[in-house]
Amino acid sequence: MTGIVPLDRSATVLVAGSTGLVGSAVVRHLRERGFGTVVGAHSADVDLTDPAATAAFLDAVRPSVVVDAAARVGGIHANNTEPVEFLTDNLRIQTNLFTAAHAVGVDRLLFLGSSCVYPKHSPQPIPESALLTGELEQTNDAYAIAKIAGLIAIRSYRRQYGRKWISAMPTNVYGPGDNFDPVRSHVLPALIRRFHDAAASGADEVVVWGTGTPRREFVHADDLASACLHLLDHYDGAEPVNVGVGADVSIAHLATVVAEAAGYTGRITWDTSKPDGTPRKLLDTARLTALGWKPGIALAYGIRDTLRWYTESVAPS
Ligand code: GDP
Repeated sequence: MTGIVPLDRSATVLVAGSTGLVGSAVVRHLRERGFGTVVGAHSADVDLTDPAATAAFLDAVRPSVVVDAAARVGGIHANNTEPVEFLTDNLRIQTNLFTAAHAVGVDRLLFLGSSCVYPKHSPQPIPESALLTGELEQTNDAYAIAKIAGLIAIRSYRRQYGRKWISAMPTNVYGPGDNFDPVRSHVLPALIRRFHDAAASGADEVVVWGTGTPRREFVHADDLASACLHLLDHYDGAEPVNVGVGADVSIAHLATVVAEAAGYTGRITWDTSKPDGTPRKLLDTARLTALGWKPGIALAYGIRDTLRWYTESVAPS
């Protein structure tokens, strides 16, 4: 795309959700890449579900760039059992942030969505054009609708007010600093915790949810952070841009990879009373590739890196 000016490294950048998996990686990456004024916002600084507090915070910080990585997130169980909070908190957070960002004249904003915005039975790999062409996966439809509202809001601010705001749709994200809660987390941290703890205690059985047949694509948070900056530097379009790695794995295969990395040699059994969720969501990343970005972190390396972080920072010693 022509006419895009890369971000000024002296700009004040606000990263909303700065203590989360993605937000903390974005803060690190921006600082490493020479941004001098990166301001984080997380729940202890400002309650983004409160419109007045959000407006006052942005008025005080006066960013010219915002990365919106603030969201209520969770794995399949959390999404499936708390749809009201996943819908309403996410609608509030993004609406308050966009309203406040517009009020203080934020020039560049990146909104982070999710691959769950695409229909359950999308063509694979999923192009951005699959948006709004079919029914959503029911286990996370509330979260998906909130994220779809966010990306339509981005398009609307562009169309109505000429804002240079953009949306990125990442595939399943993982990495150090993830949420390892056994029930609420996503699959990769859940498996890292379960296989590590089983290996440490000498257990001979680990139970994994579902049938093992769903396929998922995983992007490391550091790769996603690098893609976010690449998009802010090189993209200014109304269409969302998928962020993925171009390959997926079955949950059954993922379980064997995590088991091996954790040194677990016992049995793996499947709890088919738990939902599988969407059968497959491999993203078509042609648009991002054409912009000159590619991932750098292989899944096997990323799993070991995340396992090491879990062992050092979370696991009971
Ligand atoms: P999803 O991509 O939105 O479905 O989110 P998840 O990361 O929560 O789940 C991905 C897949 O992994 C689903 O098919 C789950 O049933 C499966 N899975 C297997 N074991 C687990 C687990 O312990 N936790 C979670 N969250 N998912 C699991």
